[in-house]
Amino acid sequence: MKFVAEALSLSEPAAKRLHRRGILKSAFIPHPFFSDIDEAYLLEKKFGKYEEGTFIASSHNRSYIARGFPKIKRTLVLEECIKKHFKGCDVAVEEKINGYNVRILKIGENIYAVTRRGYICPYTTERARELINKEFFNDFPDYMLCCEAAGLESPHVQKEIYGKRLEFYLFDIRNTRTNEALSVEKKIKIAEEYNLRLAEVFGFWCCEELLSNVIKIIKRLNREGREGIVMKDINMKRLSVKYTTSYCNCSDLNYAFRYFNDIGRDFMLTRAVREGFQSYEIDSEETRKERYLRIGKAIVDGILSSIDNVIEEGKLYERSKLRFRNKEVMELFIKHMKKLARVNFEYLGLDNEGYHVLFMEKQVISTADRIKNLISGGFW
Ligand code: ATP
Ligand code: MG
Repeated sequence: MKFVAEALSLSEPAAKRLHRRGILKSAFIPHPFFSDIDEAYLLEKKFGKYEEGTFIASSHNRSYIARGFPKIKRTLVLEECIKKHFKGCDVAVEEKINGYNVRILKIGENIYAVTRRGYICPYTTERARELINKEFFNDFPDYMLCCEAAGLESPHVQKEIYGKRLEFYLFDIRNTRTNEALSVEKKIKIAEEYNLRLAEVFGFWCCEELLSNVIKIIKRLNREGREGIVMKDINMKRLSVKYTTSYCNCSDLNYAFRYFNDIGRDFMLTRAVREGFQSYEIDSEETRKERYLRIGKAIVDGILSSIDNVIEEGKLYERSKLRFRNKEVMELFIKHMKKLARVNFEYLGLDNEGYHVLFMEKQVISTADRIKNLISGGFW
């Protein structure tokens, strides 16, 4: 606990108190795969200047910290927000990738992947060790790579559009202790130099030219079934702003209504409201009519597909197929997930590519029970 206190500039009793109150939690399961790490903790809540998800580890008498990834503000009306927020500023527009947030850093001799909440994930770490060029950390030991992990083989967000295997899309390079980000230009240069895959940067525009270009990009991303954009001050001094496509809002609505009794109502409400404001800003009479249909279809089809699943299989679940190089990492990942969620696993053995394959099934119990009850005459 002493190293945590030091890393967070606290007294040791204060750090112990955080631990007792459950704000400071263990961030990993000790295992030879994590051989560099003696102890590791995460912050479950924001504490002082330290963001939720801040990760603190000790390795051979050295402490490491990875500050939590900061919240990104969302706008629902582009024009006014751009004028107000990016006045006098050059702005980079990047693709917003729909996966899960990971911070990749080197601890001791190896690479580790930390999730948004601050856990070291065995699956993501194994994949990061396969894909990320370690050289970067030799040249930039105080920095971490903030990436979106996306693909069909994802334990959290399965999206076909990013391909089958899980890949990392770099979007920020940040100092692990101060959380300061390198400029967008520097990030692009480093990505080229170390061969890291970037979340695409569509271009740089001054505040006055931003709106028309953003609207063009959003329309294209919407047609392509992509999530949206993040607008960033090129020097990374102001807060970044995100904005999503109607495709993304509707696909979220479809998901939410498939699991209508399990998903928070706020999740549904926010997506619906986003559609209203987008319509206000960019719709013609014709695109508004298309939107009516799109939203309605997303909702009704979501509920229908779950009713079908319950009738056919008696249950509802989210499934994903994951591949591992090492069986021990697979077993470690199962342990890790069982600590965090209600999941079932099925080991499928080796496939023709020689990998260990695992099916993961997250049960969605409350909605399934609700549907069973309703279709057999129960009251809402
Ligand atoms: P918040 O950041 O407000 O906590 P959230 O957790 O609900 O939001 P999202 O709505 O998905 O997440 O938006 C922010 C997330 O988008 C980031 O945390 C990051 O994981 C992801 N992201 C994807 N592409 C980018 C990008 N190009 N730049 C920044 N973040 C990106
Ligand atoms: Mg996201």
